[in-house]
Amino acid sequence: MKFDWLIVGAGYTGCVLAERIATQLGQRVLIVEKRDHIGGNAYDYFDENGVLVHKYGPHIFHTNSRKVWDYLSQFTDWTPYYHKVLAVVDGKKVPVPFNLNSLYALFPPKYAEKLENILITEYGFGVKVPILKLLESDISDLKGLAQYIYKNVFYGYTLKQWELKPEELSPSVTGRIPVYISRDDRYFQDTYQAMPKLGYTEMFRKMLNHRNIKVLLNTEYQEIKNEVQFSRMIYTGPIDAYFGYMFGKLPYRSLKFDFVQYSEEKYQEVAQVNYPNEYPFTRITEFKHMTGSQSKGTTIAIEYPQRYIEGENEPYYPIPKDEYQELYNKYLNEAKKLNGQVIFAGRLADYKYYNMDQVVARALHVFEKEICRNE
Ligand code: FAD
Ligand code: UDP
Repeated sequence: MKFDWLIVGAGYTGCVLAERIATQLGQRVLIVEKRDHIGGNAYDYFDENGVLVHKYGPHIFHTNSRKVWDYLSQFTDWTPYYHKVLAVVDGKKVPVPFNLNSLYALFPPKYAEKLENILITEYGFGVKVPILKLLESDISDLKGLAQYIYKNVFYGYTLKQWELKPEELSPSVTGRIPVYISRDDRYFQDTYQAMPKLGYTEMFRKMLNHRNIKVLLNTEYQEIKNEVQFSRMIYTGPIDAYFGYMFGKLPYRSLKFDFVQYSEEKYQEVAQVNYPNEYPFTRITEFKHMTGSQSKGTTIAIEYPQRYIEGENEPYYPIPKDEYQELYNKYLNEAKKLNGQVIFAGRLADYKYYNMDQVVARALHVFEKEICRNE
């Protein structure tokens, strides 16, 4: 059987593009996925405790894009959810992103008030200041505060997660969690924040449920590439692997998840508690807070960062750093030589630290600009 498209990878990128091509262009798509499930890193399932858990770590949907929200809403209803995170600092659990409530939880009230006033005068209420920017302050109280936050919230966590210091990474990494001059304890401030009512996997199932889409699980692209007939291809795996590592390997970070089940109703007060300073793990997630599962017991996941080693673990994070961007650009140049015959898109193929809404936006853009335009 001949397919119009071969898509490698059944994550967000593969599912969105398959759905668009099948329903909008009426063309036939084969998706090959090396794992035994669809959904990529956003895959979720019900465990023995009856808790909907995320196999690859906590996935919270948040976006400011009406377009992305409307698109996904065709395939799922939503449960509104505001993610809250506490970090253990000086033996206390304080809100992260670090905000005015964190300030009052950690400092004597008079000093906290003084710092609050300086922060508001310098930057304004409701403003977000990346930690690396706050460190540049020449006001001595603010510099002291910045050094305290850097040391207690960012340094240890970043070293565990990336084996790099915050300043050795692109500023955009720690910039994801800026100091927030506000009393808002939510992790995100996006317009739309919610979890798919029946889970991500169910949403992907709906997207792929079309006569023009065939999915082959447990199938590695390299093993079938000469067996399948297709006209064009979309590749959502690691771009360096596609080109046989011809310029050397792009580095990725991986994680090990320890899932632990308890018979108690609750383990911790919020969905996520970060441990920047103690222990070799970075964070503990308790899923029922996020996924709303009404179960007697509870399930947590403890995250241990690891180096990515091909064949041993999964490449979860591209590493945002200039020298790796330069290496990626060499692969991008090779990709361009294929003249659109193979389209590269997604977190691994673009080597970009995308959130879920960004991969959906990217896939919709690819569909509109690179696929429809050439029809
Ligand atoms: P992937 O999900 O990686 O899908 C690629 C697929 O291709 C995989 O299933 C892989 O098995 C398959 N594949 C690769 N190579 C081959 C091959 N050669 N042959 C066959 N199949 C292949 N985003 C948020 O918005 N909010 C969050 O809270 C959030 N939390 C996250 C937490 C963690 C721990 C991680 C790792 C990511 C998180 N993300 C979050 C990001 C989100 O997971 C990604 O943006 C999104 O899943 C990327 O989708 P993708 O399709 O590009 O890639
Ligand atoms: N970070 C930190 N301390 C924290 C939370 C985040 O140092 O308590 C830094 C760390 O470098 C991390 C980055 O901010 O990798 C991005 O955090 P985010 O929660 O967005 O990471 P993700 O959920 O993508 O793993």
